[in-house]
This record gives sequence, C-alpha cells and structure tokens, in this order.
Amino acid sequence: MPTLSHRITTLNGDGSDGWDVFYRARRMVAAGDDVIELTIGEHDIRTDPSILHAMHDSALGGHTGYAMVAGTQALRERVAARTEAQSGVPTTVDNVLITPGGQSALFAAHMATCAPGDVAAFIDPYYATYPGVVRAVSAVPRTVPTRAEAGFLPERHAVEAACDGAASLLINTPNNPTGAVYPRDTLQTIADVVCREDMWLISDEVYDSQVWDGDHVSPRALPGMADRTLVVGSMSKSHAMTGSRVGWLIGPKEAIDCAIDLATNTTYGVPGFLQDAAVFALNADGLDEEVAAPFLRRRAIALRVLAEQTVVTAIPAQGAMYVMLDIRRTGLSGEAFANALLDTHHIAVMPGESFGASAAGHVRVAMTVADDRFEAALRTICHFAAGMAQAA
Ligand code: PMP
Repeated sequence: MPTLSHRITTLNGDGSDGWDVFYRARRMVAAGDDVIELTIGEHDIRTDPSILHAMHDSALGGHTGYAMVAGTQALRERVAARTEAQSGVPTTVDNVLITPGGQSALFAAHMATCAPGDVAAFIDPYYATYPGVVRAVSAVPRTVPTRAEAGFLPERHAVEAACDGAASLLINTPNNPTGAVYPRDTLQTIADVVCREDMWLISDEVYDSQVWDGDHVSPRALPGMADRTLVVGSMSKSHAMTGSRVGWLIGPKEAIDCAIDLATNTTYGVPGFLQDAAVFALNADGLDEEVAAPFLRRRAIALRVLAEQTVVTAIPAQGAMYVMLDIRRTGLSGEAFANALLDTHHIAVMPGESFGASAAGHVRVAMTVADDRFEAALRTICHFAAGMAQAA
C-alpha cells in the first residue's frame, strides 16, 4: 500500500486513553451488562415525531435531489432571523452557510481562516474533536489553559499568551465539557485580544438554547466583532436532531462565500428534506425549551445531591448537558477514577483528561439518562468518591 498522508495518520495526535472508558463501557453493554452510560452528549429522547413528519412530507414531495449548496433559501432565512433575534446583529442569508452539522462548520471555519502552518488556538478543556479539526486543515493546535478555580473561564494572560501570532481562536459557550457560560466581560477580554492581534474568532454556540444561569451572549455582537467572528450553530443539541446532521456557519459575506466554495468541493450541501425539517423545527414554538427541560431538571438534582457531601465538588453547570465533577480529593486522576467506577459500579463517565490537561482530576457526567437513574448514579459516584478519599 502506498504511504498515507502524514496529515491523516496524525489526525488524532497522541490520542488519549480517556476514551478507553467510553469504548470499554460500550463493550460491556454489548456483552449484556447493565451499565449506566453518562458519557456522550446524546439526548435520551429521540427527534420529535412532528419533525420526522415534516421530513417525510418533504421527501415525498420531491425534495430528494441536490439542494442548493449554500442551503435552501428558507432555512438560510430562518437561521439568519434566529441569529439576528438572539444577538441583535443584522444577519441576512448572505451571512449563512448551512452545513452537515456543527462539526462540518468547525472544519469550514478553520479552512477559511487558517493557512497551513498557522497557529489555531482553542480553550482547554475542549470538545474532543477540536485538535483534530485544526490538524485536518494543516494548522497547529495551541491550547489556552484554564483553571477549575476560575470556573474554567479563560483569563486574560492565558488568552494573550496563546493568541500571540495565532490566526484564530476557537471558543465554546455554553461549554462542553465544563458547563461554563462565558459572561460578557470574559467575552470582551477575548474580543480585545482578538482585535489587537487582528485574528479570527470562531465561536461554537451549538448549546445556545441550553442556558440555565445568566444569558447566552454571542461574541459576534460585541463592538467591532461581526467582521472577524465566525459562529458555529447546529440543530443537534437544541432540537435533539443529532443524527440529521444540520448545522450552520455564520459570518461576514466574504468568508461565507469562501466556505460555500469549500462546500461545493466537499459536502455538496445538505439534503433538502432535512433542511425542510429543520425549518419546521425552528418554527415550532417551544420545541427547543422542551428538549432543554430535562437537563435543567437534572442539573437541579445534581446540585442537590452534591450539596449533601463534601468530597466531590462541581462548578455549577450554567449551560449545556454536562456537569464537570472535581474528584481531586480522592487523590485519583480522572482516568483512574472513571476506570475504577466502571469496574466496581458499572457507571461510565468521561475522564476530564480526555478534554485536555486543564480538566485533570475531574470527570464529566452527561445528564442524559432518566432523572431517577441519574440521581441514583450521582449518589453512587459521591459514595464511591468518599470511599476513595478515605483510603487516600
Ligand atoms: N461543538 C460542540 C461543543 C459539541 O459538543 C458538538 C457535539 N457533541 C459539536 C460541536 C458538533 O455537533 P454537531 O456536528 O452534531 O452539530
């Protein structure tokens, strides 16, 4: 076999053993074990049947051919209106590219802003695919470390250090994996640095409908930022449509035109019947709130259970579908804790280390099982941690 490209064989970097827990849990489930999986960000409800009916009607109505590469006029208009309503920034169809999920928009954003060899920065802890996206465009990943003690919010000195000479900075609020929602002053600090360094800001806002505390602020709305910000959005989390692969990229027309050229030569757009289903979903009042409600409930459960003990702490998740638990009092790494928890109690959580060095000594718990099961699992986790701390 001829040699594969260095870029593709090194896409995953050194990898992290943190994912072993996830795969091991999957193997245990396949073998018939009763494992409580609190690992990935997938809702425990399915896409609402009304959305599926809209999809079905559109497909039967003939929307099964090539759709416009940039997205249907109807969905681009709807996404532009949603973005403008939420951020106050004037947004038209020219500012919107529909993509196969937010993941594809993350790739397009980095393709549009980073030349090979450019530094692309992102905040640590980070969503697992970020380093791979950066490597996929032949850019060089550089992390902005954060501290649990600062609520995993990026601090000025760390942002400045990482952005020195970088082409782009990728941020994610509400945040996966930490649940942090960046306040306006944090975003303003980021905006100051990005403007001074004359770089692009890529803002991953796929959890924008799941905010429990405070408000979601899009950095594109800050003064001077609309011309240098690319926003990544998605139907996956807001409407439990992870499998439909409908997302978008928002930005200045010139950048979106380039991203459309990229789409023409890579994805060639998103199926029309899925886009019609997305328009239906975005027009269905209250559907996103319905999808978000279980996470708000379970967050309250988590705060209540955690308040009953002192070994495990959390920054109270302000958004998204996760709680990040600080288990450092057990003396274990996140990875050792997660592995032992899976072995002894058949509960699978993600080691913090799989999201970057800043989350060492933490585990991420996805709030994606039924309330009673979630509460029981959290109690078991706390009990297990107390035992470990005593032994330490
Ligand atoms: N960004 C973040 C922070 C995510 O958590 C995810 C999915 N887990 C994505 C982007 C990509 O989502 P999708 O491609 O399904 O829109």
